[in-house]
Amino acid sequence: MNLKPRVSRKASSFTESVIREMTRQATLHGAINLSQGFPDFPAPADIKRAACDAIEADINQYAVTWGAKRFRDAIAAKTKWHLGLDIDPDREIVVTCGSTEAMIATMLAVMNAGDEVIVFEPYYENYGPDAILSDSVMRYVTLHAPDETDSTWHFDRDELRAAFNERTKAIIITTPHNPTGKVFTRDELRFIADLCIEFDALALTDEIYEHIWYPDAARGIEHVAMATLDGMRDRTVTINSLSKTYSVTGWRVGYAIASPDLINGIRQVHDFLTVGAAAPLQEAGVYAMGLPREYYDHLQTEYQRRRDFLLGVLEETGFKCYRPDGAYYIITDISAFGFEDDVKFTQHLIKDIGVAVVPGSSFYRKSNLGAQQVRFCYCKKDETLAAAAERLQKLR
Ligand code: GLN
Repeated sequence: MNLKPRVSRKASSFTESVIREMTRQATLHGAINLSQGFPDFPAPADIKRAACDAIEADINQYAVTWGAKRFRDAIAAKTKWHLGLDIDPDREIVVTCGSTEAMIATMLAVMNAGDEVIVFEPYYENYGPDAILSDSVMRYVTLHAPDETDSTWHFDRDELRAAFNERTKAIIITTPHNPTGKVFTRDELRFIADLCIEFDALALTDEIYEHIWYPDAARGIEHVAMATLDGMRDRTVTINSLSKTYSVTGWRVGYAIASPDLINGIRQVHDFLTVGAAAPLQEAGVYAMGLPREYYDHLQTEYQRRRDFLLGVLEETGFKCYRPDGAYYIITDISAFGFEDDVKFTQHLIKDIGVAVVPGSSFYRKSNLGAQQVRFCYCKKDETLAAAAERLQKLR
């Protein structure tokens, strides 16, 4: 008898997350971890208190599968003041285990085998496996690094238009963008929106860094939500989470906002994938969503300060940096160091220098495209960044 492969074709067709593997290697080698994007400073005390209170108050059983009523109401209220969108909390929201689940549940809910989904490259590594798991075909459109034609990461409009066709079911947009830090402009989003309308495609927008961007009025930097553009409210799935905004990446509480027909599909998949997100943490989410504007202003200022610090350190050390306008990562060009590729350079950084980063190739489908790039994150304590700065001096 022929032995059957024990692991499925799908599960064998992607590898472990490189980002998460780097965290493990950092721990193994005692390196300062500037790889995986999570804060090493405490989560806000009042948000933690709200979670503990919820557990004490015995909010410890399943919440409604698509999200606790109070939490959905809080998300709708915050979405109203922040984005100006009126969302029906009973029909247009599903609460998930992080934005990771929101994205895979969405793809499983909307994609049929062979449907195409467009993504900008470099891209956040999850989207590749998401496409495989949902039997979709990924089409890549290049984000070009800043150059003399454009001071920020940019795409070719003809290339994007050519990627759309009658099989295009959706486009994934991450804004602010991981890993490049690009914040898509209103004009770029309008161009994408018009293509979505022309080709009857959905926009799946990952907006978990919506509050983490650095105002620059002269260059028109601001976060624009796709769902707020004319004609896009009903063809956009807006994906978000508590993780980055409230510094609680381990809580795994995310959500998707979309029109009722889409939300029904996503809820159905979500129900059987995970049943629901942690009930007491959703309750803490009610508190978090009620925080005043100053909370978000402070978050922005703090991350801007950290960005500027790390940019200075990296540039001094010999990295060419692509200055991010949002999120909390810096993509750097490492050609000045003369390493064969990003993986070898990363190993050197982790083992000999003592700083962990993410190799650039993990954000590209063809590894050669990222072979001279690595990603640093700066969502870390001042002491952590200062200690990393000191270790990086050895590279000079
Ligand atoms: N979003 C975070 C990052 O890009 C964490 C991702 C992950 O665990 N894969 O680093």
